[in-house]
Amino acid sequence: MDQQQRKQVGFSIWYFLLALLGIWLIQIFFVQPFLLNRSEVPYSQFRQDLAAGRIDTVSFSGDRIVYTLKPEAAGGDGAGTGEAANAMPVIHNVVVVEDPNLTADLIAAGVTFSAEAPSNNMLVTLLAWALPFLPLVLIWYFMFKRMGGGRGNVLSVGKSKAREISGELTGITFDDVGGAEEAEVELREIIDFLKSPERFTAMGAKLPKGVLLVGPPGTGKTLLGKATAGEAGVPFFSLSGSDFVEMFVGVGASRVRDLFQQAKAKAPCIVFIDEIDAIGQSRSTVGAIQTNDEREQTLNQLLAEMDGFEPNNGVVIMAATNRPEVLDKALLRPGRFDRQVQVPLPTEPGRREILAIHTKNVKLAPDVRLDRIAQITPGFSGADLANIVNEAALLAVRRNGQQVTMNDIDLAIERVVAGLQRKTPLNDEVRRKVAYHEAGHALVASLLPTQDPVHKVSIIPTAKGALGYTLQMPEEDQYLLGEQALRERMAVLLGGRAAELVIFDELSTGASNDLEKVTQLARRMVTEFGMSEPLGPVRYVADAGMGYLGGRSALRPELGPETATRIDQEVRQLIDAAHEQALELLRTNIAVLHEIGGVLQEKEVISGDQIKQIVAGAKSEPVEAGTH
Ligand code: ADP
Ligand code: MG
Ligand code: ZN
Repeated sequence: MDQQQRKQVGFSIWYFLLALLGIWLIQIFFVQPFLLNRSEVPYSQFRQDLAAGRIDTVSFSGDRIVYTLKPEAAGGDGAGTGEAANAMPVIHNVVVVEDPNLTADLIAAGVTFSAEAPSNNMLVTLLAWALPFLPLVLIWYFMFKRMGGGRGNVLSVGKSKAREISGELTGITFDDVGGAEEAEVELREIIDFLKSPERFTAMGAKLPKGVLLVGPPGTGKTLLGKATAGEAGVPFFSLSGSDFVEMFVGVGASRVRDLFQQAKAKAPCIVFIDEIDAIGQSRSTVGAIQTNDEREQTLNQLLAEMDGFEPNNGVVIMAATNRPEVLDKALLRPGRFDRQVQVPLPTEPGRREILAIHTKNVKLAPDVRLDRIAQITPGFSGADLANIVNEAALLAVRRNGQQVTMNDIDLAIERVVAGLQRKTPLNDEVRRKVAYHEAGHALVASLLPTQDPVHKVSIIPTAKGALGYTLQMPEEDQYLLGEQALRERMAVLLGGRAAELVIFDELSTGASNDLEKVTQLARRMVTEFGMSEPLGPVRYVADAGMGYLGGRSALRPELGPETATRIDQEVRQLIDAAHEQALELLRTNIAVLHEIGGVLQEKEVISGDQIKQIVAGAKSEPVEAGTH
């Protein structure tokens, strides 16, 4: 596709150069002789020249008379000053005047005269007139080409970039999608329809025109779209919302028109609009003016197209978004994207399936257990899992291994979770502090039953700048957290700082990230979850379409400053309580803290099992541990 497009561009440049050459030649042979040696004279002068017998030839062309003087006569002619020395005949131009006797006089004077076809002259005049604009046109042409990113020439600016990939060619089916059974069931109906629309039409059934796939990034929405086309064996037209929004106003709308025209010609087929939020954002809540105009036009065109074609014409429109809440309500009305299919993050069995799909062509060592990987990766999307498998394979290649081992996978998970490992060693004092900090997190987490078990503690710095990290992994997917669990989560987050206080009686900068998380959590408990007694079950934050992206939300604007102060006080109180709890736990288990901290300094990394052993050992022999 790309190559073919490049060829087209090449062709147009050759045509262009050819035209340039042609214009140049015309100018040399036709325009120049006319332009040079030419002078405008009054009709009376023409009459005088004629009467004096100085005229050699006369040519009528359009509303002008062009005449040449006899060579011997040119010298004495006043109007032709300076041109006489020229080898070329002197040419004079005269505007035609109503003169019935002229022809007779010309014949009498024995002058050769003729009439030129006016069109010929027109062409020359036109060229002579257009020539000065050529550089401008050239500049314009190349500027547009630049702006288009070299993706084609200016003439195809409005042409849709939708590429037709036939379903059979992509070869993607539901076998390539893991852990999305529910979405697949919903899409089956669409597939049946695309396979034999006449059955549905005969029954008088109307199918939804548009299907909106909704889910967090990387959960396989695009993949599901392709698989739907693949299963039905129909062409798949795909365009991303951001493709529509380009720099020329009106281009987006014409793209939409074009896309639907192409699609209708190829029906049955699927039109897939990825990241539809880029054009489909609510029209009322927009800020800047210019880009919105463009986006609004595009959106309106899309709505018009969707309304314009009759149902059951065989075109099914699918769209994907991870921010359904920002979409314009008009898009979700009946007759448009009236069906939504949820594509959530995969559950554990789903993750196992996805891993199986992506490890199909990977050489796995016998010790690799996909179910174990699936177990420790809740919250990971299909794209994350695909990434982990690929990372692991890369690691195996780098160490010249024959197979991908469980260790490669563990390392790959860490990379995806905590960034790349850096190898620069830290000085002993910093190491000691980091070790106790992480030990504090790990110990508090291990001592609190509501908290996810510690999977791994490390004081190997990550590429993202963390000096160490404590990785907790839930044993099962959690959808609902109790207040107790949230409070204790704060204690875990504060465990690092508490350990620094208990051991060194001094704080460091290492806890700033923890504090950020704690503050955010406490704030949400107060303002969103209604977990503060004095403030009650009231939502205090403004609704800002954050969706899956999360992030901080602002307080409702109508709230007064006293409320803001009380919220701050409540947040403070929650955090203080959690800090107390962490300090208390660490003080009573200080021997275990020393043990974990010591092992960490020595080994840099402790596994979850080892932590469990240390904590359990301390519990069964409290006296001995206490004397440590
Ligand atoms: P989305 O469009 O939801 O952001 P994509 O479909 O672009 O996600 O997924 C990106 C890649 O992640 C896919 O090409 C595929 O390799 C992998 N992937 C995501 N979800 C799944 C899944 N459910 N099954 C298999 N692979 C998946
Ligand atoms: Mg996608
Ligand atoms: Zn920390």
